[in-house]
Amino acid sequence: MKILCIGRNYVEHAHELGNAVPTEPVVFMKPHSALTQGRRPVFYPDFTNELHYEGELVFRISKNGKHVAAKDAHLYYDAVTVGVDFTARDKQSMLKEKGLPWEKAKGFDGSAFIGNWVILSEQEKKEVHHFRLYVNDELRQQGDSSLMLFSIDTIIADVSQYFTLNIGDLIFTGTPAGVGECFPGDAITASYQGKKLMHCVLK
Ligand code: MG
Repeated sequence: MKILCIGRNYVEHAHELGNAVPTEPVVFMKPHSALTQGRRPVFYPDFTNELHYEGELVFRISKNGKHVAAKDAHLYYDAVTVGVDFTARDKQSMLKEKGLPWEKAKGFDGSAFIGNWVILSEQEKKEVHHFRLYVNDELRQQGDSSLMLFSIDTIIADVSQYFTLNIGDLIFTGTPAGVGECFPGDAITASYQGKKLMHCVLK
């Protein structure tokens, strides 16, 4: 099982971090050991002093596939949730500056937190997916699939040229503007289409 993540998929977020808007999906991966779900807490890592939350729509792959056409991509996922792509921003900035891979800043234990799954009908897949992310009940991020530079179908078509998709793989689709720091004791919650489905406690 792998976790594919898209970077810079919302124009405003690319700008807030001073990054160029990409012409093809920016892809990185997190290992299975990064995944945390349900009531398990996330522990603030001791190698960072600047942990950021990035709220994202996460889709679940439901069919094995390679070289999937964008028009068929909707057949390859069955559920969505909201997740947090936790990022050790100070570590990432240092690695980026040196032109080194990001994995230590993005793939550590607990760095891929996801909420409860919402099974999507074919009709619901065509609708706009809205989400909101709160820290200690304060709204910090909101976004929807219409603001994404690359849609989930385009992402599936792109990444499946490089990586065979397997049932159970996850795709984090990038974060909108409003990322920021979080601290031990924070409760990070998220809603999808107005319904709460994620609750993460940072320790
Ligand atoms: Mg992200």
